[in-house]
Amino acid sequence: MMILVSVDIEGIAGVVHPEQTRFGHPESERARRWMTGEANAAIRGAFAGGASRVVVNDSHGQFRNLLPDELDPRAEVLLGKPRDLGMVAGVDDPDCKAVLLVGWDARSAAPGILSHTISSFAFARVLVNGVDAGEASLYGGVAAEFGVPVALFTGDDAFVAETAPLFPGAIGVVVKRAHGHRVATSLSPGAACDAIEAGAREAAAKCASLELQPLPTPLNVRVEATSVALADLFAMLPILRRADALALEFRAPTMRYAVRVLNSLSAMSFMLR
Ligand SMILES: [Zn+2]
Repeated sequence: MMILVSVDIEGIAGVVHPEQTRFGHPESERARRWMTGEANAAIRGAFAGGASRVVVNDSHGQFRNLLPDELDPRAEVLLGKPRDLGMVAGVDDPDCKAVLLVGWDARSAAPGILSHTISSFAFARVLVNGVDAGEASLYGGVAAEFGVPVALFTGDDAFVAETAPLFPGAIGVVVKRAHGHRVATSLSPGAACDAIEAGAREAAAKCASLELQPLPTPLNVRVEATSVALADLFAMLPILRRADALALEFRAPTMRYAVRVLNSLSAMSFMLR
């Protein structure tokens, strides 16, 4: 049984500010160590819960934040971008039986630490079938299309509260309480790791009993850009229909397709940074 651990940084204990998440910023060097620590906690738990293989997917920013020389040597690590399956790359491995989301954040426009959906620069909101979608909803949907359940999700209380209804039976671990977008009461990294290791062990042990809840397709996706200029740019892609000054819509036959379009728009947005 292979378990995929997808690690983001905004939902790591001790992280509350964008500078801690910005590659190259001195503060991010320390946050990368905490991120690697929480990844190791999930790896330990996954093996203790029955995994025979663990692949860790670095899924923040440029996808190369984890410190490979500090990772549990039993795990393999997936680094770098671009990649088709984004934050759940590796879920297409036929041996993959569960995904553990570690250090993820609440969806855009939600009151969580550094909440965003895929790109805080590009997207004010993303809706799928009329419902606000965060990264856990989008990528959990991709994993479900490969027959793989999300078994663990960790981050702040806003992320855990919005994610719990998406994955019934999965384990949620709160490592900090959000008091706004950049204010939190956090566990120490050590205490967060203890909680994540225990959650990962339980999640790995029960993952075979989790049921998938794929959304009915095709999906109607609505993207609300953060500026009219970005909406102008996104409207150049002919599969999108301009709904109003800021909003565009498209239909997606699968969640994997939807995520590929969103990641393409995010990449395009760098032109206007
Ligand atoms: Zn991130």
